Amino acid sequence: MQYITYNISNIYKNGITAIKKESANLVSARYPVRLSGYYAALIKRPDDAIWKQCMPDTRELEDDSQCPDPLDENGLSPVPGLIHRYPDRVVLLVSNRCAVYCRFCMRKRLIGSGDAPMGEDELRNVLDYIAVHPSIHDVILSGGDPLMLDDESLSKILAGLRAIPHVAIIRIGTRVPVTLPERITPDLCRLFRNFHPLYINTHFNHPNEITEESRAACALLADAGIPLGNQTVLLKGVNDSVDTMRALMTGLLAIRVRPYYLHQMDLVQGTAHFRTSVRTGLEIIRGLRGHISGLAVPHYVIDLPGGKGKVAILPDDVEIRGNTLHLRTYTGERVTYEDIITAPQE
Ligand SMILES: *Cc1c(COP(=O)(O)O)cnc(C)c1O
Ligand code: SF4
Repeated sequence: MQYITYNISNIYKNGITAIKKESANLVSARYPVRLSGYYAALIKRPDDAIWKQCMPDTRELEDDSQCPDPLDENGLSPVPGLIHRYPDRVVLLVSNRCAVYCRFCMRKRLIGSGDAPMGEDELRNVLDYIAVHPSIHDVILSGGDPLMLDDESLSKILAGLRAIPHVAIIRIGTRVPVTLPERITPDLCRLFRNFHPLYINTHFNHPNEITEESRAACALLADAGIPLGNQTVLLKGVNDSVDTMRALMTGLLAIRVRPYYLHQMDLVQGTAHFRTSVRTGLEIIRGLRGHISGLAVPHYVIDLPGGKGKVAILPDDVEIRGNTLHLRTYTGERVTYEDIITAPQE
C-alpha cells in the first residue's frame, strides 16, 4: 500500500511555509525530515504541539554538547541490530524508517539513514543469539518503527521469535497508531493474533494526537487481544504542563491505551531544545497522582547515560523517622502514619 509522505522537498507544496527553506534543507541534510500526510494534517498552526514534534528546527544543529548515543546502545550490541542491556530482555532494531521522523527521537543517529530494514542474514544472527541465551524471555521490536515493515517481513520476524521456546513475550514499540493509523489493518491484526502473547507500546505525546483515526487503530489492536501501553516523552513546549498531561493520559485510557512510561528526554545530541528539568517532570507526576485514575499515571523514568538502565523517580512525598512516616497527600495535606508492626508469634 502507498501512503502519502511528505519530505523536505514537497512539504512546501502543502501549505507549510513557516520555516525558511534553506534552514529546513540544512537540518534535513543531517537529520532527515519525513511526515505522513495524516500527521501533517494534524498541524493546526505553525509552532503548535504537532508542528514542534515533526518540523525541522535549526536548533537541532546548534546542540553539539551532547553525544549521539548517550545510552551506549552501540556498546551494548553483541550482534548488529540487537541491544542486550538487561539479562532477560532484548531490543531488536528491525527498521530504521518511521512514518514521521520525530525531531526529539532518542535514536536520531540512526533514523532515516538508508532504507534498509533488518536483512535476512542479520535476522538469522539475531535469532541465533537469542536462541543460545535462555535468559532472554522478552523481545522488544523497535527501530525505527517495526510497523513500517510489510506484513510478510513482520511475520517472518515474529515466527522466528516464536520458534524459540524461552521467548515468553514479544513486544512491539510503534508510533504508527499515532502517525500512520491507516497502517493498522484487519489483516495486520489477524497476523498478530498468531503470535500471542504480544504487547504493543505506542507513543502518544499530545491530546491532539488522539483522533477518530488513532482511536480506530487502537480499537483494532485491542480487539485482537493485544494489551496496549503508551510511552510519552516529556517535551518542552509540547506537553510540559499538568493540564496537557492530564488530558493526554485520561484520553489514552478512554481509547484503551494504558500509560506506561513518561520519559525524561535523553541527553541525545540535537534535542536539547526539547529538554525540561526533572523538577518539571516531578511536578507533573504530582499533578497526576491522586487527581486522576491511578491507571492513567505513568512511571516517570530517566534512562541513565552509559546504558545503566531506566530508573523510575517519584516526587518526594515520604519522610521516614523511626516508625513514623510523614506523608504528603495528593491535596498537599501533611499526614503522619505509624508503621505498626505486630511482633511475630512464638
Ligand atoms: C527500555 C528498554 C528495555 C525495556 O525496559 P522495560 O522497563 O522492561 O520496559 C529493554 N532494553 C533496553 C535496551 C531498553 O532501553
Ligand atoms: S517514531 Fe519513534 S523511532 Fe521513529 S522518529 Fe519517532 S520517536 Fe524516533
